[in-house]
Formats: sequence, C-alpha cells, structure tokens
Amino acid sequence: MLDDMIDYLQHIRERPVWQPIPDAERAVFRGGLPARGSDLPEVHRQFMDHILPYAIGNAHPGFFGWVHGGGTPVGMLAEMLAAGLNANLGGRDHIPVEVERQVVRWMAELFQFPPTASGLFVTGTSMANMLALLVARYRALGGAVRSHGVTGQPQLVAYTSAGAHGCIAQAMDLAGLGSAHLRKIPMNAAFQMDTAALEAAITADREAGLLPFFVAATVGTVDVGAVDDLPVVAAIAERNGVWFHVDGAYGALAMLSPQLRPQLDGIELADSIACDFHKWGQVPYDAGFVLVRDGDLHLETFATPASYLRRDTRGMAANSPWPCDFGPDLSRGFRALKTWFTFQVFGAERIGQAIYQTCLLARYLAERVSAEPELELLAPVALNIVCFRYRRGHDGDALNAALVADLQESGVAAPSLTTVRGQLAIRVAVVNHRSRQQDIDALLATLLKLRRQHDL
Ligand SMILES: *Cc1c(COP(=O)(O)O)cnc(C)c1O
Repeated sequence: MLDDMIDYLQHIRERPVWQPIPDAERAVFRGGLPARGSDLPEVHRQFMDHILPYAIGNAHPGFFGWVHGGGTPVGMLAEMLAAGLNANLGGRDHIPVEVERQVVRWMAELFQFPPTASGLFVTGTSMANMLALLVARYRALGGAVRSHGVTGQPQLVAYTSAGAHGCIAQAMDLAGLGSAHLRKIPMNAAFQMDTAALEAAITADREAGLLPFFVAATVGTVDVGAVDDLPVVAAIAERNGVWFHVDGAYGALAMLSPQLRPQLDGIELADSIACDFHKWGQVPYDAGFVLVRDGDLHLETFATPASYLRRDTRGMAANSPWPCDFGPDLSRGFRALKTWFTFQVFGAERIGQAIYQTCLLARYLAERVSAEPELELLAPVALNIVCFRYRRGHDGDALNAALVADLQESGVAAPSLTTVRGQLAIRVAVVNHRSRQQDIDALLATLLKLRRQHDL
C-alpha cells in the first residue's frame, strides 16, 4: 500500500489531473453494509481501481481549480504514524498535546504574537474563523452570552470585504448574530477592502445604536488573492474598540517567504488569525488553525467544567488547560503531527520558497495572458491567483465556461470559474509545490487549442 501511494505521487504528472466518473464506477459505491469482511488485499485492490483514479486531483501539478494544497509523502507518513498511535488530542497528559502546543508557539513566533497567545488545530479556516468570532462575541457581551445566549440589544455588527469568503457570514449565522449583520464593505481597484467605507460603516452603525464588534480582513481573497491593507484596518479596529481578525486561510503562511512577508505587514497587530496548513503549507487534509492573542479570553470562551473531565496536578489528568478547553471539540485527532513533521523535515524556509514559487508561476501566467490579444486579465495578481477570460461579445460567458469544462475533462490542467466584477472569469490558483512552468505552459497551450476547436 505504501509503495502504491509513493508510486502514485512520484508519477502523478503522467496521470490526468481529473477524469469524469463513469456511471459504472459510481455504482461500485452503492452496495450495502458488508455483513462479513473481505481480505485486506481485496479491499485495497478496490481502492486502487475505483477510488484512486477518480480523486479531484489536487496532488497533481496541473490542478489549479481551487486553493487546495498538494500534500507531501512526509505528511502522508506522519498521518500513518498518527493513526497508528490513535491519540486523542482532547486533553490529558501526553506528549502529543505538547506537540500541538509546540506548533502553537511556532505560529505565535511567526506572527509575532506574545507567548501568552493560544492556538488550536481545527478542521479548516471555516471553523477557525467561527471560533475567533465566538471569542470576539464573548469579549463584547461577557460571560452571560454563554449561559443566556444573545439576548436583547444592542445588536452586534461585523465587517468584512465584499471579497471575503462565505464562511464569515456563516460564522455570524452560527453564532446567533445573523448573517444580515455582517457588513460587506466594497473593494477598491486592488480588490482590497475600502477602508474609508469600513470606517464610515462602523460610524453609521454606532450612530444607529448598533454595536460594531468584529472586523475580518483577508490575506489572500478566494477569488483573486488580494491582501487587505492590514495596518489601516488594524488602526480602524483599534480606534473603534473592534476585534481585528485576519482570515489568512491560505495567505497567512506567506509569512514564511521573505519576498512576500512585507505584503502582510500589520498581521502582527491582529487579535486573532485563522489559517490552514492544508493549503499553502502542503500538509495533508485537514489541518486548520486558529491563533488568538489573548489566550485567557480564548479559554474563557470555551472552557466547560465536567466531572468526567476532572483535572489533577499529577497522573494522567494533569497538564490542564487542555485543547478541548479552547474549542467545541472534545475528541480530536493528532493533526499537529503531520504539521510538525512537515516543518521539521522541510524547514520553514523551504516551505516559504515553495510558496513564493507558486506566486512566481502566477506572475508568469499573468504575463503570458497579457501577451495574448484574445485574452484579458481581470484582476491584478497580488499573490498566486490569476483571473482572466477570452474577450468576446455577448456569448463570452458561455465560451469561457465551456472552455473550463473542456480543460477539466482534458485531464491536462484544471482551472475553475468564478465571477470578477460581474464577469465570468477563468480562475487559476497556483498552490501546489509540484507545479512548474511546464504546467502553466500546458494549461495555456491546451486552452488555445480548445478555443480553436470551438471556432470550427
Ligand atoms: C479556503 C478558505 C476558507 C475556508 O477554509 P477551509 O479550510 O476550506 O474551511 C476561508 N477563507 C479563505 C480566504 C479561504 O481561502
């Protein structure tokens, strides 16, 4: 099994990025609950024949569809070790918890947070953003919100850019504050949150008797990869007593690259940061993470006493507070191990270089797009995402959509579609450490070839 997966990763460029799933393959997964077991080699054979060939393809260097990390064999092996150990990272006194704490301290160091900062592994940034928003809600409303919920006035209001990820609105919804109370601030020409509009919105809400409590800036917006003006957002948050959160789902790890780091100036001022190791960090899914400046506030937001979670100063129940005190999960896997292995084996510098390399490839693609008279760039390339389209009259959207589907079905390269300022865009997100210039060239060559076929 190990050999098969190493082989798979080693020769992945020779495979299609993705392939359409035949009905017969889907039908394999309609069988009922097996009453009796089969031999492991037989089940492994099923995996090789019916699962592996029909993955989404994010390990492939030609995968550019969404901001998905590529993973590494190191991360894969660490996952195996973690599964063998079968550690439960909810709490208690064992070294796996210390490994998670060490990664928390590494992140505090990277983002120049104080040693008293807290952090927690979660599934992904959707969850991390929500936990940060709950800490901010607790700060705004005090301990009563935990026992009595969100009652009465004033209404809490949050702010983010119109380019922010949808999970910020969902966090407002799940926190009982209502997604209608998230103000989506318009973007400037660089697709950053318009900070004058942000401050005006906060002032207007305060004058209307509402309570502004949370602003989420984005480092690496999902559509175009823009980075909000962090020092200015930080200053506005500070002036208005509002929690300053950074959604750095993939972009926050640009801190690892000396070339990209200046674009993130001001991130060290955040009250909380959400990020994913499974995107630019190339750690296998899933490995989301939240970092909170005020560790005590974070603890107060979630800690829940229970007799079966009794703490002690010695024995296995020592070493409190535990990870389960910083979020809603009690049973938790050892996500920290694959992250720890990835940093230990490659080192922060090499991960930073891989991240920078994806940005160089995005710039290369943007230059090539600009040189093609038929293509137009739809947004500036701040990091690793390029949005462009074929210029065409009334049926431009249909053509661009058809070309993206053709490309995905070709198996050569897999971009995705999004909408940029009302126009359908071909979106290429370079995230995988395996991607090279040849993969960008193959994407463009196939796109141009498919385009000619559409004209026949
Ligand atoms: C990917 C992403 C998210 C969601 O993160 P998950 O790990 O998928 O939950 C949130 N915000 C941004 C900017 C993202 O790129």
